[in-house]
Amino acid sequence: MKVILNCLPPARTDTPSAALSILKAHLTTNGVETLVIYWNILLDGILPSFERNTDTIHFDLLPYLYLIAEEHGDDIARSRANAYVKAELPERDVLNDSSDYLGGTRRVLDKRIARELSRYSPDEPLLFGISCRYEQWIPGMVLAGYVKRLFTDARIVIGGLGSRDRAAAVMKMCGLFDYAIWGEGEYPLLELVRALDGGNAGLAAVPRLLFREGGTLRNSDTETGRFFDMNSGVFADHDDYFSCLEALGKDTSAVILPLESTRGCTWNACRFCVYSDGMRTRKREPSRVTEEVRRLLDRHHTPYFAFMDNDIVANDPERLESVLDDLISLREQREINFIAEVIHKGFTKRIMEKLPRAGFGRIHFGYESLSDSLLAKMGKKTNFSDNIFFVKFARKSGIKLPSANIIRGIPSEEDVDILACMDNLHFLRFYYDNEFFRHTIIPLRLAGHSRFHDMVPADELGRFNENEIFRLLPGVMTEGIDRFALFDFSAPHNTLWNAFAKINDFYYNHTYSYTVRREEGDVIYREFFDGAPVLELVLGDVASAILRETNERILDLRDLLTSLRERDPQTDETSVRAALDALKARHLVYFGETYGSIISVIDADI
Ligand code: SF4
Repeated sequence: MKVILNCLPPARTDTPSAALSILKAHLTTNGVETLVIYWNILLDGILPSFERNTDTIHFDLLPYLYLIAEEHGDDIARSRANAYVKAELPERDVLNDSSDYLGGTRRVLDKRIARELSRYSPDEPLLFGISCRYEQWIPGMVLAGYVKRLFTDARIVIGGLGSRDRAAAVMKMCGLFDYAIWGEGEYPLLELVRALDGGNAGLAAVPRLLFREGGTLRNSDTETGRFFDMNSGVFADHDDYFSCLEALGKDTSAVILPLESTRGCTWNACRFCVYSDGMRTRKREPSRVTEEVRRLLDRHHTPYFAFMDNDIVANDPERLESVLDDLISLREQREINFIAEVIHKGFTKRIMEKLPRAGFGRIHFGYESLSDSLLAKMGKKTNFSDNIFFVKFARKSGIKLPSANIIRGIPSEEDVDILACMDNLHFLRFYYDNEFFRHTIIPLRLAGHSRFHDMVPADELGRFNENEIFRLLPGVMTEGIDRFALFDFSAPHNTLWNAFAKINDFYYNHTYSYTVRREEGDVIYREFFDGAPVLELVLGDVASAILRETNERILDLRDLLTSLRERDPQTDETSVRAALDALKARHLVYFGETYGSIISVIDADI
């Protein structure tokens, strides 16, 4: 059995598929001939280029949604797909008489898909694997039609599905898919190949498999089985990606190579999140991470790497430092740049300083909100003090934070929460800069398996009905399907968020700065708005000491008092509380309820 894995739009074209590359390596190591076809590259350019607004819709899916609508005879769905294209390219149809923008899609696909698939013989046993990540199952349905027409005996398996419900929903929508694997795919796929080759106990023994039997969908008998050993020494195989680019004469020097240092999520607590559905949480040895980077550098000669993990820290700062130390050493000999995502709980100044030295010039982090109450309602383990610490030291270390997401519209959100976000904007006034630290306000997308979904009463779920892709599928396909198993949906937002957005814009359109100086024995704080002085304060001894002690670490009141008393045993709690209140009123120090998580907003090396 030969396995052909398929990477489809809208997967990014500037990076190999992390999941398919490791699947290929795993299957090949186990004696299964495997290759990856990068349809996202081969079929790139079906749509004319225009500014994509990826926050609202996957435009790269439109040609496939159009074809699916056509196959189902749904003219309205077809027209909707065309309308989205027209909205981006109105100048192409100034007389409004040639509005079938996507009408040429079938012709292009016929040619390109037939050319690529002509490499394979209809006589050889083939298993096509289609990844469903990023809604790749939509073009996957179109590809499946070609596969079944050209290779009558071929089988198709879909994967990259977090839950059995999602796998079942996609299988119900498309009868061309023979099997679905949900959760991690390495061993189930290997066992499926062996089952199809007739070498083991059959389909029912393949872990986390859905298959068709007697006209219905059937679950295999087990949901556990073996999981891929991330420290086994099997490394992702990206060769098919580079071969594809080279065959098309494309430049490979800016390719971003994916890395994996953890799987699952050690926190697994955020109520909006389904990231780790179907995954077992584990970490890779730091030495394995560096070994893979070295191998990739030697093989592909591109210095750009992206960690696919939701959080490279995995609640283990010691391990992170070990990875960073290895990469700092490697960076002394080789050019390397990384982008990664972190959950910044428990970060230290030392880690923040090591990150850019190790090549982490840009980092995504689990920001989510400016309000402690909203962060708590989301189930986040970080609080607003952690956010301030991270932003402050990222700025100091020169790390860019390209997308600090602010989630609006969670269940149980109240006006008072949004008002707190508005007020807390001021605590970060020295750090707003579109290049360096950008707020992005995003709606909550309610996902079927999330804790939030379970919290919303059934009669309120109807409010969550905004998902552009769902509306572009023919109605007949989605009838009887649990829409939350397929997609996540957002609800109309509280209009206070519009006021928040305006105030947020104000901060991004202006510059706050400050100085802290010792002058004739006094510590003088001065604040400037667009260069003009707006505030001058003489900081007393206690206030100065608080700013110093909470400059590089987050302290609760007890630890702060201990630190202060090491320098001045006479420090009394009442005066410290009063100074904290005064500093917070001036937005120079932030702390949560009951004087917890105290952090200086300014870099006060007094
Ligand atoms: S949002 Fe991130 S930290 Fe939270 S549960 Fe999801 S993956 Fe884990």
